[in-house]
Amino acid sequence: MGGTADSTLVIGVLLPDALGTYSDSGNAVVLAQRARWRGIAARVLQITADVTPPTGCDIYVLGGGEDQAQVTATRWLQQHPALVGAMETSAVTLAVCAGFQILGRSMSDRSGHSYSGVGLIDVTTVPGPRRAVGQVITHCVIPGVGQLTGFENHRGISTVAASHVPLGRVVRGTGNGTPDAAGHLGDGVWTDRIVGTYLHGPVLARNPALADHLLTTATGRTLDPLDLPDQQALRRTYLQRSSR
Ligand code: GLN
Repeated sequence: MGGTADSTLVIGVLLPDALGTYSDSGNAVVLAQRARWRGIAARVLQITADVTPPTGCDIYVLGGGEDQAQVTATRWLQQHPALVGAMETSAVTLAVCAGFQILGRSMSDRSGHSYSGVGLIDVTTVPGPRRAVGQVITHCVIPGVGQLTGFENHRGISTVAASHVPLGRVVRGTGNGTPDAAGHLGDGVWTDRIVGTYLHGPVLARNPALADHLLTTATGRTLDPLDLPDQQALRRTYLQRSSR
């Protein structure tokens, strides 16, 4: 896919060992399965630190991780500019929590360590006053996606430059943790190629419409709706629980 003769959708999980604390690599499973249910062949590649990362994936996913793992993951990405170039120009990327912070311009952590991110998005992260832990609900700005649910567990708070839009407006929880000029809290970021968020869950298991947005962006295809009553019931449960 992605302009090649091969019609298989390839999803690359970046550093599942370092950025796997919150089971965010499940996002790749959701993407692959929802593609297959539409008759699109899909393959998931686990891209560990010991390999030269492939640059031809249609979708890359990055997950959350602890502060030290995040430093290591950032350095690894900076050592692979061809991969970062692919994320900038040809692929679609979902980045969660530490993964979202890494794609930004800079980060500092609790120990006072400040370092540069890969600079794909105009986002800066600093430690917040306290750790944000718990259920989150946002209104997603992507048309048709609706509410997003997930859980957060992070210390960093992120400022998204005015040139970008946050992925969601926070209804409950902290998200980016920095209010905009109107006093609204946002979560994550949405650009033409990057969806960033603080939501774990995995976020695409809880919010399949967001998975379908990524699949549509990556394949250029309009996808038929799926009728999955169990999934819908699970989503209702999470929305109800999160709004308590
Ligand atoms: N280490 C980062 C923070 O605390 C990211 C945490 C995470 O990925 N859950 O902000």
